[in-house]
Amino acid sequence: MTSLLRLLPEEMEGALAELGAPRYRADQTLRAIHAHGAATLDDLAQLPAALRGRMREAGLELAPPAVLAERRSEDGETVKALLALPGGSTVESVLMRSPRAGRAPRATVCLSTQAGCAMGCVFCATGQMGFERNLPAEDIVAQALHFRRGGERVTNAVFMGMGEPLANYAETVRAIRLLTDARAFGLAQRAVTVSTVGIPRAIDRLAAERLQVGLAISLHAPDDALRRRLVPTAGPRSVRELLDAARRYFRATGRRVSIEYALIGSVNDAPGQAAALAGLLRGGGMHVNLIPLNPTAGPFAAPSRRRVREFRRTLTEAGVNATVRIEKGADIAAACGQLRTDAEAGAASGTAAARG
Ligand code: SF4
Repeated sequence: MTSLLRLLPEEMEGALAELGAPRYRADQTLRAIHAHGAATLDDLAQLPAALRGRMREAGLELAPPAVLAERRSEDGETVKALLALPGGSTVESVLMRSPRAGRAPRATVCLSTQAGCAMGCVFCATGQMGFERNLPAEDIVAQALHFRRGGERVTNAVFMGMGEPLANYAETVRAIRLLTDARAFGLAQRAVTVSTVGIPRAIDRLAAERLQVGLAISLHAPDDALRRRLVPTAGPRSVRELLDAARRYFRATGRRVSIEYALIGSVNDAPGQAAALAGLLRGGGMHVNLIPLNPTAGPFAAPSRRRVREFRRTLTEAGVNATVRIEKGADIAAACGQLRTDAEAGAASGTAAARG
C-alpha cells in the first residue's frame, strides 16, 4: 500500500497516469488533500468513481490519523494532539498561535519525526521513553494536515516534536518537500525549521539540498563534558564540530542558525557558562534561544529569573544575539513527550485521557 500523502506532485502525476488519468487529476487530488482536507479516498469526490476504484486496486490509500487526546491551553493559543497515525505509531503534535504585528497570527505546527527518540536527552520526557520507530513522510505530513483540517491556518512548521529529524533523514526531507511544495501543503520554505541535537554530516547534507529551511541546533552546554551528560548520545561529536557545521550551513544557505539552550537551574545557567558560550559563538551567523526549563518528572529544576536575565545579558553584551523563549502551553504539558506520557499514565490508572 502507498499513501497518497507521501507522493510529491510529479509522483502523483506518474501514479495517476499509470491508471490512465490525465495530468489535471493529479492537481485535483493534491488540492483536495492538502487544501480542502480530504481524509479518505471517498472524500476525493472530484475524481470519477472508476478512477478511485483503480486507485484502490493499485494499492493507493488515504487515511486520517485517529485523535486519541487533544488539549487546549487556558489562553486557547496552544493545542496539543495525541495522534494514532495510519502507519501504526502514536505521536504528539502541537499547534501554537502567536500574534504578528499588522498580520494574521502565526500558527506554527510542531511535528514529530519519530515515535520515541534514541537521543536520550536527560531532561526530556520523550528521551526517557526510548526509541520506537522512524515515521514515514506521510505520517509527518498527516500531523500538519490534522490541524489544517480542524480549521487552523497553518503558517509555519518546526520539526521539534518527538524524535531527531536528521536521524530519519530521507523521510524528513521528503516531508519538508511535501510541506513546502506550492502544489501540496504550500508553506514557504523559510517558514520551516528543522531542529536537531546535531549530526554534523547530516547538517552538511541538508545544506546541500538547496532548501531555504531554518536550522536549530540543541546545544544546551558550552563544553563537551556537560553536553555529553545532558545529551548522552552526542557521542564523540564535540561542541566545536557542531558549531563548525552550523557555520557551514549559514554560509551555504544564508540562513542564520538558532542555537537552542535549555537553561537548567544550577546545571548550565552560571555566568561563566554564559561567557564560555559567548566565546564560542562570536563571529555572527547564529542566534541563541534560551529556554528556561519546563520541568518534567526528572530531577532538574527551572533556573531563577535572575539567572536567566544575567545569562542573556552576558551573551548580548558580548555581541551575541539572544532571546528568552517561554515555552508555550506549559499548562497542557507541551514539552515534547509529555502528553503521551500523561495519557499512558491515565490509561494505566484507569482514567480516560482528555479527548478533543
Ligand atoms: S529533546 Fe529532542 S532529541 Fe532530545 S531526547 Fe527529546 S525528542 Fe529526542
